[in-house]
Amino acid sequence: MSSIDPAWRILIGGELLESHTGQTLAVENPYDESVAALVPRCDAQDAERATAAANAAKEAWAKVPGLDRAQSLHEIARRIREIREELATAITLEMGRPLLETRDEVDWIAAIFDFYAEIGRADRGVTVAPGQQRQRNYTVKEPIGVVVCIVPWNYPLLLMIWKVAPALAAGNTIIIKPSEISPLSAIVLQRVFDHLPAGVVNVVTGFGAEVGEPLITGRQTDMIAFTGRTATGRRIAVLAAERIKKVSLELGGSDPFIVCEDANVGIAASAAVWSAFLNNGQVCTSAERFFVHEAIADEFTEEVVKLTLALRQGNPMGPDVDLGPMVTRQQRDKVLARLAEATAAGAVIRTGGKIPERFAKGHFMEPTVVTHVDRHNPLTKDEIFGPVLPISIVKDLDEAIERANDSDYGLGASIITRRLDYAMEAAERVKAGTFWVNDPLTDNHAAPFGGMKMSGLGRELGREGLDEFCETKHVHINYHMENKGYWFPYDWQRGRNKRS
Ligand code: NAD
Repeated sequence: MSSIDPAWRILIGGELLESHTGQTLAVENPYDESVAALVPRCDAQDAERATAAANAAKEAWAKVPGLDRAQSLHEIARRIREIREELATAITLEMGRPLLETRDEVDWIAAIFDFYAEIGRADRGVTVAPGQQRQRNYTVKEPIGVVVCIVPWNYPLLLMIWKVAPALAAGNTIIIKPSEISPLSAIVLQRVFDHLPAGVVNVVTGFGAEVGEPLITGRQTDMIAFTGRTATGRRIAVLAAERIKKVSLELGGSDPFIVCEDANVGIAASAAVWSAFLNNGQVCTSAERFFVHEAIADEFTEEVVKLTLALRQGNPMGPDVDLGPMVTRQQRDKVLARLAEATAAGAVIRTGGKIPERFAKGHFMEPTVVTHVDRHNPLTKDEIFGPVLPISIVKDLDEAIERANDSDYGLGASIITRRLDYAMEAAERVKAGTFWVNDPLTDNHAAPFGGMKMSGLGRELGREGLDEFCETKHVHINYHMENKGYWFPYDWQRGRNKRS
């Protein structure tokens, strides 16, 4: 008898399956701590099955003409819109983000398929000036082969589709490995791929060590596209390097947020509160280090505290909620432990810092504002990934930029100012993959996204995001059949071009 609800099966070679052992793993609803579902707990053998299916499909999928492939991708977008509510509900159920936000996530992924449907069939190489007469030289962007997409829990569909849409548009076949914390939305999504040939998209669920690593080390996968923690990315990069496999890595961040003295304090505070507490600070580009000019620091801090106290926590499925629970108890405990270290080192909690008493269940944490965060405070040293807004006072823009760059990470960065010279100066000097002026955390899927320094390698989205999933082949054609003067035998008297 089946041990698992048929709704929660994995997709391999066009079939909905259990793991080969029949083992399952429990997915928790972080709002009420109930078991939301049991999903297949896959291992190396399941990875092998998915790899075989993706390989069997790859030659035919790579040959599909551009227009046909574009139509298939537009069809995926249409099907996503059709099941918008089901997908949004699954994300909210598994990771606790308000339904209002998860509906946006579904709208964005549909738009990304439409975008890559079109740019995937546009220019796919260039013509190069030939080196000799009667020759043609051109490049072709070919698919890499089987791409493994390993995804975190914080935007489970968005970060998956940043990989899947361009990789499919480029003609690759796919194996998706969602986070063990948030596999439900990935499973619900499976049916939007029904019209594709079997094996083009495969999904396996389970733990990184059990099914993720075999996908990386297996002989027949060609590229690993990963989003997650920097420590995991390092491990994946090493495993892939030993096999000379391409990786793209979207890793952690500790984004700086600079507030200049000319800023409208009300607007700056609103922007700060949103970029620190959106999704409980569980965004790779959450602002985590605030550098505020001394002339407005007190007023800014008061306004930030006021806005933070007004945030509404509650059931993420319900209306009138700004923040749901954090994703897991461990994640919340980690953030509380970081706060304890920070205060021991001299930081002061202005509001928050505790588990709210009014929730009997759920991984809630009060949104927290911290001041007196000096450059040595442990809060500034590593990614926080929780609802914490740490404020440091700076005397000018130079100090703010220097502090912003004093980090191992370089994912995103923001500035709030009306002064063009400040915005331009900071945009040039801050090391970050994305720089926002007066509009933090807003992505544009037509523009590239990615990290500098320890925040990653490669870019997703935009044209760059398509190129990541292609290999360039140079085709050199001599269209006249002739012996070349530079072939053997060498003529030492006349030199290399003896016959031409
Ligand atoms: P994680 O690294 O713990 O897990 C990410 C994925 O990797 C999961 O699917 C997990 O099962 C898998 N995994 C873990 N160990 C593995 C291994 N040894 N081999 C193969 N797969 C393995 O990250 P997380 O906690 O799910 O996500 C949060 C992190 O993701 C944060 O650091 C955040 O900044 C980062 N993130 C980065 C971006 C970006 O675009 N740069 C976006 C979102 C999240």
